Amino acid sequence: RHVIYLNNSIISKIKGYERIREALERETGSRFNTKDRTDTFALFETPCIGLSDQEPAALIDFHPFTNLNVMKVREIIAALKDGKEAADICDQPADHIRYLPPNNHTIFFRPYTAGEGLGRAMVLSPGEVIKIVKTSELSGRGGAFYPTWIKWDGCRKQKATPKYVVCNADEGEPGTFKDRVLLDREPGSVLEGMIIAGYAIGAKYGIIYLRAEYRWLLRKLEATIQQFYDQGLLGRAIRGNPDFDFDIRIQLGAGSYVCGEETALLESMEGKRGEPRTKWYFPVERGYLQKPTIINNVETFAAVARMMEMGINNYLNRGIPGSPGTKLISLSGDVRKPGIYEIEWGMTIAELLGHAGAEDPAYIQLSGPSGECVSMNQKHRRISMRDLLSTQDIRCGGSFMVLNRHRDIMTILLNFSEFFLKESCGICTPCRAGNYIIHKKLQKMANGLATQADVEEMRQWCHIMKETSRCGLGKTAYNTPLMAINEFSDYFSEKLEGAG
Ligand code: SF4
Repeated sequence: RHVIYLNNSIISKIKGYERIREALERETGSRFNTKDRTDTFALFETPCIGLSDQEPAALIDFHPFTNLNVMKVREIIAALKDGKEAADICDQPADHIRYLPPNNHTIFFRPYTAGEGLGRAMVLSPGEVIKIVKTSELSGRGGAFYPTWIKWDGCRKQKATPKYVVCNADEGEPGTFKDRVLLDREPGSVLEGMIIAGYAIGAKYGIIYLRAEYRWLLRKLEATIQQFYDQGLLGRAIRGNPDFDFDIRIQLGAGSYVCGEETALLESMEGKRGEPRTKWYFPVERGYLQKPTIINNVETFAAVARMMEMGINNYLNRGIPGSPGTKLISLSGDVRKPGIYEIEWGMTIAELLGHAGAEDPAYIQLSGPSGECVSMNQKHRRISMRDLLSTQDIRCGGSFMVLNRHRDIMTILLNFSEFFLKESCGICTPCRAGNYIIHKKLQKMANGLATQADVEEMRQWCHIMKETSRCGLGKTAYNTPLMAINEFSDYFSEKLEGAG
């Protein structure tokens, strides 16, 4: 039986999701999300498959199919019915990479020679490598912005062995796909960053936790790992250093958003249900198999490899004070040029929207549904690693979903709240109950039945969730609706007046 996952993110919805959904049901004879299915096709919806730049998109038997239209769906299903394999007819997703640093001074997509960054790191002591990472001010590029060097230094100081380096490739935030492009285009720099981390903290093992939705990247990643072994960049006595052995393997996730949270990821890696741990210990103290572990994002490792190869001073030449370097942004929605943008920190929202050919933008969601929503009133703000009103900096973890003024804000917010409702692991009450209650409030608002008292109740729940949820999902799930109510106050006052 062929298993089809159709993306139902807000970006898919504005790009023609409904037509594709109908076409899939018509052509396969199965129904979405029910047991009403044929022996040949099972249909499911899913909130993120990392292809927001090429929506509507679907995974069929975990192979990508992009820019779908009704005719294309008909041809794909006919081919599958004819006995073709999804692997033979799928698309290679286009990687639209757009460099914006002045003079194309890209950090991530420079010509790459395997081992150069590692060679430069290994003439230094592990402590010196960590010092360079500290000087770079590199911080968690998955969106948490925790200083990378603090994790590395903390892990290096642990006595217990073995230690582990984990690459978090569980990029599940709707609208985000930068890690997909890095893994597809620059897998070597990601591996090399992991090896450098292993050298710096004294680890012998690296594991890439690859989200199930990126299973189609597995073959390429395995081939790159093999090349590294063949070149002596992985294995025993790396680069002739008898004290440095390092191996990397890949572990597949199973399609859960919360496994991007680092302790849920560890649980999943250990074969358990992917639920965040209570934070008695940091992973650098007791992580994978209770051993010292660092977990960093794909982009973080790639940045380390590149800064070692190009030299720290060269790296620091880019960006603004407090936010050196460049950042990859996944940009999608109502724009003429969706794709990956490498920007120097400090570019304004308006400049980036201009480069992307944004069409009548009104609502921008930064860093996915758990991030921040802004209106064009904030277009002058600088994209940065910090959120500082004094300097007009706004933090962005990696994605811009751009919606134009014809899109309904309630539809956007309901799409996000449904996402959190489904992805909450449910282990703690504030997140489990809060997500449900706030989703119901938003539905009430969409129907013109909500009052100020409902907004107040939402605020209270938001506060409870923020203070008492175990992990970031519950703590941030309702940032967006509350921000939207402030940011688009005219729109919401009409919605609330409708109750009267
Ligand atoms: Fe699970 Fe939500 Fe609690 Fe996180 S906050 S542990 S997702 S129930």
